[in-house]
Amino acid sequence: MAQASETLIKSAQTILTMDDDRRELAIHDIRIKDGVIAEIGENLTTDGETVFADGCVVTPGLVNTHHHLYQTLTRAVPGGQDALLFGWLQRLYPIWSRFGPEEMNISAQIGLAELALSGCTLTSDHLYLYPNGSRLDDTIEAAKEVGMRFHPTRGAMSIGESDGGLPPDSLVEKEDAILKDAIRLIDTHHDASDGSMVRVGVAPCSPFSVSRELMRDAAILARDKGVMLHTHLAENDEDIAYSLENFGCRPGQYAEELGWVGEDVWHAHCVKLDQSEIDLFARTKTGVAHCPCSNCRLGSGIAPVRAMRDAKVPVGLGVDGSASNDAGNLVAEARQAMLLQRVALGADAMSPREALEIATRGGAEVLGRHDCGQIAVGKRADIAIWDVTGVHSAGSWDQAAILLAGPTTVRDLFVEGRQIVRDGHITSINLSAVIQRQNALATRLAENL
Ligand SMILES: [Zn+2]
Repeated sequence: MAQASETLIKSAQTILTMDDDRRELAIHDIRIKDGVIAEIGENLTTDGETVFADGCVVTPGLVNTHHHLYQTLTRAVPGGQDALLFGWLQRLYPIWSRFGPEEMNISAQIGLAELALSGCTLTSDHLYLYPNGSRLDDTIEAAKEVGMRFHPTRGAMSIGESDGGLPPDSLVEKEDAILKDAIRLIDTHHDASDGSMVRVGVAPCSPFSVSRELMRDAAILARDKGVMLHTHLAENDEDIAYSLENFGCRPGQYAEELGWVGEDVWHAHCVKLDQSEIDLFARTKTGVAHCPCSNCRLGSGIAPVRAMRDAKVPVGLGVDGSASNDAGNLVAEARQAMLLQRVALGADAMSPREALEIATRGGAEVLGRHDCGQIAVGKRADIAIWDVTGVHSAGSWDQAAILLAGPTTVRDLFVEGRQIVRDGHITSINLSAVIQRQNALATRLAENL
């Protein structure tokens, strides 16, 4: 993957900048130099490569704030297709316990490629089980191969079935080993600088799969190392009931008690946050990864995203693991976010531009990436180009409203100025070979279950 030091995106029909003034520019160019947006204007020139964007809408790259990439190997598993969260987990745990390093690497490449084709340039991942020698490094390697900006998080589970937890004992780890590996990963891979391609986070799976002590120690470790914290919170009614019964308080209070609020923390789902918890998140700038398709798929409910946004809670989008979506298309997720608020609150509850803002700038804010998420001079060159000359946009009176009518895959995608999708195809990996390997691994996993 050669990197031209300079690229010019020329004659875009519309650029949705998502900058501080939310400018929308007609027939403008973007000059990229050394991974950064160097210039935005009309009739720009370059000595480097030119990519013509006539008939295209150009947006910041989309940001995915919650995923379990390994789950692309267990999509649409019979017996898990129609289950609620806890029953669904119990169906899948025995399959996941058969994974190893290759399963982690290949499934991550698939998930990352799927995201890239749907406009995503920056994704987090939440890997919370490490069977048979698997390591977070297996997914970091995959992100380097695909060329995606990556925030992997060191997830963990420590309370197995024999201690009253949900996961089988074979998938849980000792808490001191979890923290030790988190330190190793941060010291090996975490890069805090502007333009960083890898930032590691600390992410016990959920309050019902680790101890209170591990939640607290993880927060202390993350603050000591200057990295972010992530977990699942308040996903559905069962989750709230578990919290009240076992911790004697709601999830928001539990998070606050253990140091799990602040601008260096983001929680996935938050479907069941009440107004006092929304106020807590707003006050502390605690982020939320909203996963509308997963919430629909598992029947969890409708997250109060309108109330969160009105209170100024940082909100981003997440496709969630592909076993509970089962797709990983981020622009489709943005459309779903828009539609779901309308189901709850009416047709004016969320506009297509607001949903796209949550998917770009919103996600970047949640992940602490103020260098990404908008098209502005000095920001990183993470850019999605959407062809609106095709059938999906034909007849649209507002072709920039791509969440109402528009393509669901990108024509071109740039991450740090490098083009990883060209004419609708991934350029960085041999995707058909990886798909073939993924399907072979899925077949092997299904044998003798
Ligand atoms: Zn999740």
